[in-house]
Amino acid sequence: MDNERDNVTPMSARTTVRRGANRAEYRLEEMHEILRAGSVAHVGVITEEGPLVLPMVYGIGDGVMYLHGALANSLLKAGANADICATVTILDGLVYAKTPFNHSMNYRSVVVRGAARIVSDEQETLQALQLMTDHVVPTWDVVRKPSASEIRATRVIALPLTEMSAKVRTGGAINVPEDEGTEYWSGYVPVSTIYGAPISNEDAGADMPAVIRNLKGRDLHQ
Ligand SMILES: Cc1cc2nc3c(=O)[nH]c(=O)nc-3n(C[C@H](O)[C@H](O)[C@H](O)COP(=O)(O)OP(=O)(O)OC[C@H]3O[C@@H](n4cnc5c(N)ncnc54)[C@H](O)[C@@H]3O)c2cc1C
Repeated sequence: MDNERDNVTPMSARTTVRRGANRAEYRLEEMHEILRAGSVAHVGVITEEGPLVLPMVYGIGDGVMYLHGALANSLLKAGANADICATVTILDGLVYAKTPFNHSMNYRSVVVRGAARIVSDEQETLQALQLMTDHVVPTWDVVRKPSASEIRATRVIALPLTEMSAKVRTGGAINVPEDEGTEYWSGYVPVSTIYGAPISNEDAGADMPAVIRNLKGRDLHQ
């Protein structure tokens, strides 16, 4: 029921999946595919006030995950030049066993760990902003580009994709032998996030770009 995965060598000891190791995915292209399909990263840092995890948009560059926010953003301040963790999760299904103990979820998730650096080069900053803008829906070419002052007000950090792992669960529930033949239902419900019909702002000064118009009915995570 639950797919066995083809594993290759983990990237580091601390990104070696121990629990549910049969669900581990270490192939670079597969992990990148999940990062490409994901939309939000939950980024965890240690701040002076304690651990903090915040959801953020991200972009994938050449071997790095870019994150951005306001210069005053507390997470980015704490996370710059520090060891951080970013997790991307895609929920693919709800898995119902005969007992809640064995309930589960189908998912694709990637955990990235490492030291993030502040991006200060102007060219790389602009490229990172484009990658983040285009990550979910490529809209960079249909918007006004950021001004110099908007760029100055933005902090961009880059987290190397050199220490990461993925976990993937698919299929139905795994029921335990003592539940065999009992009268309880068991199975799974696929879950997807489908774009609705786009709605133009009252002050929209142009026709809806095709890249937006064509979203309706598509799956965010495919
Ligand atoms: C949507 C969703 C819901 C979940 N709900 C629960 C829950 O309620 N309870 C629960 O115990 N677990 C849940 N999990 C699984 C959870 O993410 C962990 O994999 C699991 O709890 C094992 O934790 P551990 O500390 O023993 O991991 P270990 O295997 O010891 O972790 C070692 C390393 O493996 C990697 N790793 C671990 N988990 C993941 C992952 N999910 N994705 C990518 N890499 C990973 C990381 O690099 C980590 O540093 C859920 C996962 C998802 C995606």
